[in-house]
Amino acid sequence: MIGPFTYVARPMRTLFGAGHLAELGTELGRLGIRRALILSTPHQAGLAQSVQQQFGELTCGIYAKATMHTPVEVTAEALEQLRALDADGLVALGGGSTIGLGKALAWRTDLPQVAIPTTYAGSETTPILGETEHGRKTTLRSDKVLPETVIYDVNLTLSMPAGLSATSGINALAHAVEALYANDGNPVVSLMAEEGIAALSRSLPRIVADPTSDWNARSDAQYGAWLCGTCLGAVAMGLHHKICHVLGGTFGLPHAETHTVMLPHVAAYNASFAPGAMSRIARALRVQDAVSGLFALNASLSVPVALRDLGMPDSGIRQAVDLIMRDQYANPRPPEHAALVEMLRRAWVGKPPVPD
Ligand code: NAD
Repeated sequence: MIGPFTYVARPMRTLFGAGHLAELGTELGRLGIRRALILSTPHQAGLAQSVQQQFGELTCGIYAKATMHTPVEVTAEALEQLRALDADGLVALGGGSTIGLGKALAWRTDLPQVAIPTTYAGSETTPILGETEHGRKTTLRSDKVLPETVIYDVNLTLSMPAGLSATSGINALAHAVEALYANDGNPVVSLMAEEGIAALSRSLPRIVADPTSDWNARSDAQYGAWLCGTCLGAVAMGLHHKICHVLGGTFGLPHAETHTVMLPHVAAYNASFAPGAMSRIARALRVQDAVSGLFALNASLSVPVALRDLGMPDSGIRQAVDLIMRDQYANPRPPEHAALVEMLRRAWVGKPPVPD
C-alpha cells in the first residue's frame, strides 16, 4: 500500500552543469542583488577573489573566514562587515561551512542567497541551519535560511582532494540513508534517496582513484549529492545525524569524517527496525546487505574508520551518549543508552559494526 504521506517541494532554483558559474551575474540580477557579499573559508579565499573579479560590479566585498560548525562569533563578525558594506545579497562559495555562514546571515537579515557548493555536503538544499555556541551545536529549520538559487558547477569540485571527496560524499549518502527510514518519509524522497546512493557509491571509488580528471565521475557524484541533499531538506533526520551533531559540536570533530565513520554503525543499530530501508540501500549499493555494504564502501575509499583518529577522547563517550539521549530525533529504533555506548566504543576503535 502507498501512503499516507505529505510531500513538500521547496521553492528553490537549481542550475546544474559544467561552467555554470558563468551564470552567477544573471542569477544575481534575477534576485535583484546589486551588492553581493561573497563568503568563503580562508582556504578558498583565492577562488572568492577570482569570482569577485569576474562579477565585480555586482559584488561589494569578500568575507573569507567561514568556519566549520558555524560558530556564532564568526557570524557576528561577518554580520558587522555585511552592514558596513551595505550588502544586499549573499554568495556562499564553498562547502557546508561557507553555506552555513550564508544561512546564518540570511537568518539574521533575510537577505537573498546564491549558494555555489564545492563539496558534496548538501547544505545548500536544506532549510536547516546548525550553529555552535559554547561548545553546543543546535539546529533550526526555516525557509528563511534556504538559498534562493543554487549553482552546481562540476569544475569547482575538481580541486577537492580525494579524502575530502570521499568523506563529503559519504556525508551526502548519510542524508539519503536516513531519509529512507524517516518517520515523515514519502515515495518521492525515497526515489531520490535510492538514486543518490547509487550515484555516489558508483562514482566515489572512481574519484578517489582519479580526483582531478574523471569529469564523468565528478558530475555523477555532484548529481548524487544534490539528490541526497534534497532528501535532507525534505524529511526529518534520525539518530545518525543526532550523533554527528553531538560529536561535532561537543568535541570539535570534523564533520564529513565523523559522518563517514558513524554511518555503517548507525545503519547496523537500526537495521532490524528498518528492513525496507535496508533493502533499498542494499539495492542502491548493488550488494546483499546494507550494513556490510556501507562498511565495505568506506574501506574501498581509504577513509578514516575510527573516532579516535578524528580526535575523539575515549573519556568523551559517556558524555556523548548522555547528550544523544537528550532532545532525541525520531528514529526507527529508540536510543538505548547501553547499546549506544557499545556502538560508540566500536566506532572509537574502528571495529566493523555488528548488526543488533
Ligand atoms: P567545509 O565546508 O568545512 O570544507 C572543508 C575544507 O575544504 C575547507 O577548508 C574548504 O575551504 C575546503 N574545500 C571545500 N571545497 C573545496 C574544493 N572543491 N577544493 C578544495 N578545497 C575545498 O566542509 P563540508 O564537509 O562541505 O561542510 C561541513 C559543514 O557543513 C559542517 O559545519 C556541517 O554541519 C555543515 N552541513 C550543514 C548541512 C545543513 O543542512 N545545514 C548539511 C551538511 C553539512
